[in-house]
Amino acid sequence: MTEYWCEFAWLGGDTAVEGVVVEITGELITAVSRAATCPPGAERLSGLTLPGLANAHSHAFHRALRSRTQVGTGSFWTWRDQMYELARTLNPQSYHRLARAVFGEMALAGITTVGEFHYLHHGERGTPYADPNAMSEALMAAAGEAGIRITLLDACYLHGGIGTPPNEVQQRFSDGSAEAWAVRTQDALERFTTPISRVGAAIHSVRAVDSPSMRTVAEWAAERALPLHAHVSEQKSENEECIAKLGLTPVGLLAEQGVLGLSFTAVHATHLSGVDIDLLGVNGSTICMCPTTERDLADGIGPAAGLVLAGARLALGSDSHAVIDLFEEARAVELDERLATNVRGQHTASSLLRAATAEGQSSLGWHEMVGIAVGAPADLVTVSLDGVRTAGTTVDHALEAAVFAAGATDVRQVMVGGRVIVRDGRHLGFDVTAELAEVLAGPRT
Ligand SMILES: [Zn+2]
Repeated sequence: MTEYWCEFAWLGGDTAVEGVVVEITGELITAVSRAATCPPGAERLSGLTLPGLANAHSHAFHRALRSRTQVGTGSFWTWRDQMYELARTLNPQSYHRLARAVFGEMALAGITTVGEFHYLHHGERGTPYADPNAMSEALMAAAGEAGIRITLLDACYLHGGIGTPPNEVQQRFSDGSAEAWAVRTQDALERFTTPISRVGAAIHSVRAVDSPSMRTVAEWAAERALPLHAHVSEQKSENEECIAKLGLTPVGLLAEQGVLGLSFTAVHATHLSGVDIDLLGVNGSTICMCPTTERDLADGIGPAAGLVLAGARLALGSDSHAVIDLFEEARAVELDERLATNVRGQHTASSLLRAATAEGQSSLGWHEMVGIAVGAPADLVTVSLDGVRTAGTTVDHALEAAVFAAGATDVRQVMVGGRVIVRDGRHLGFDVTAELAEVLAGPRT
């Protein structure tokens, strides 16, 4: 049994609590109590301690595009061409090295669970590797070495667009049919489910998966009570094509095929109709917003407040990893919407922290990650409140300081299942900065 004394901790309310003792036995929190001063034998955690952050939407390899795609003009579609060029070069060995460093960066940012939306499955022209889940195995190993939890959201990806075949790079994403996807993903589920890694399902998008196939994927996930994610309405042209060819919006199509529900997460959901918002809300689905990616790609600003009002939950993702900073994602949900609506304060600091923690964790199938509470896994993140961005913070405004002022570099300590993986801002497993430099500087093969 280990005891930690948190100067401030967030126990789920609208403000932080001062002087909280967290008792950990094995991987779980076994007691939470109050003490004005650090008890003898307890380890002191200065600053604000939060439950582990969930990065609910990641494509690890996109990290290699950071700064390189910020040159010049373009759109989502020109960015996608650059991303495909990168995807062309990766194999299980190089992807393992890259993902390990990227997941290390996430650990340093306080992310204790990543939802890896994985579609780079096969070799050149779609030829399976000797082990068809070699790429999945590389990602699972990388997360384990970085010390963070992972839900591998194994994505079905069959078409280049509605009614068009995959191009040469997209062939690497395709299993050929939803049935073949299910066979491979079943193998992943059986091999890669561990105390810190799980498998879920994903429909890449309405562009890449036809209606019967999305129904197959949804049924496969529902039968196993697994989370199901899909990119939804990230682009206006995606909506226009879906309406023109199939007579429905992407959300309308997913609803018709039985995809929406409590286990479903719509990623982005940027361009929605009023009916779309109601459908996602009535079904209690989660919306994973990725504001730093959406702004980087000039995608637009999603209707987060309207979705919450309709009954949807919010999660957060760093998606393309233009930056990896869940505090930046959290505040962007509120701040971007301020610019779009001229209204302040539609999302509180505590509601944004819920999106960054319990709601994001739940969208990835980690329903037991309810927060700093007895019985929950001991995933804790401590944010400094004495750095240059946060100095002068009192307990009354500690949550606002974390959400609206702090950054990933203010994370001092990170614990996953009772095991400290980051101490004093340093990863205890490996030198993340050095590995990122090495893997990103060399030829990406
Ligand atoms: Zn994505």
